[in-house]
Amino acid sequence: MRLVRSLSAVSVAATCASLALCTSERSPSAEDAILARADSLKSLYASQPGLGNPTVHRLAEDVYAVTDLYHSQGPLAGVNAGIVFAPGAALIIDSGMTMASGRLLWELASARLEGTERLFLVLTHHHSDHVFGMQVFRDEGARVIGHRMVEDELRDDNGFYKSFIARMEGWTAEEADEILGDVVLSVPDTTIDSDHSLALDGEEVLLLVTPGHVDDEIVVFHPRSGTLFGGDAIYEGRPPNTRFGGPEEWRTWIGQLERLNDLDIGTIVPGHGKLSPKSLIDTNIEYLEAALDSVTQSGGSNTP
Ligand SMILES: [Zn+2]
Repeated sequence: MRLVRSLSAVSVAATCASLALCTSERSPSAEDAILARADSLKSLYASQPGLGNPTVHRLAEDVYAVTDLYHSQGPLAGVNAGIVFAPGAALIIDSGMTMASGRLLWELASARLEGTERLFLVLTHHHSDHVFGMQVFRDEGARVIGHRMVEDELRDDNGFYKSFIARMEGWTAEEADEILGDVVLSVPDTTIDSDHSLALDGEEVLLLVTPGHVDDEIVVFHPRSGTLFGGDAIYEGRPPNTRFGGPEEWRTWIGQLERLNDLDIGTIVPGHGKLSPKSLIDTNIEYLEAALDSVTQSGGSNTP
């Protein structure tokens, strides 16, 4: 594994002065607040066309996954996201495909927040299903972190990406508004192009650059709980989406997955699909190797 450097620009100063915000000071009921909030919000799901059928999972103390958020390709493509708490800080991993998804993630996180925490939103890559809810977190004062090339993709968007998705799905502008919401895209506040450690007052979270699916892919690893938020570097329930690259990118992707295999992973939260054990990495490697083999056998076509 490459050396992980300190991401001082986004480090949270070691100020746990407000003891009520220290994780160790939280009562067990604080942990349950997220799940209780999830239960209380369930009745709203049917009235939100852009919410899907999400499930909230408590993976460890302070670590949550939300699976099956809305995706325009249907429930089988459901989008996942993560919420991690640290002393005086909360980290959200991905913001869903819709403003409704972003709002749900915020509502869940805020069940445990006291209003003085530092908020971070990590975008695993620039694709619509991971970034369209981002403005919810901007409005709440979150610092947005992403790969340097996410900045290139989202700069001066001015509604272009939302219109693109609407055209792709055959939606009118009104339908796009109803489903996706008032999407506003903006560039990350902090960009990285190599592995970094995000220091959250004694709690370490690793941001690992893992190109392959797209060049601006990063995964988020929480060592204390052994949780890997894999974004679209790791798929569950279907083959990895290889259509944004060719054999060279797929070889890079395999190399990155082999690197992730060195981590002490207990649970993988893929960008889509079910929560999984570490063996999901090998499953993805096998798919990608099969894609490479099929290209070799077909004489160089990029389509596996
Ligand atoms: Zn995705």
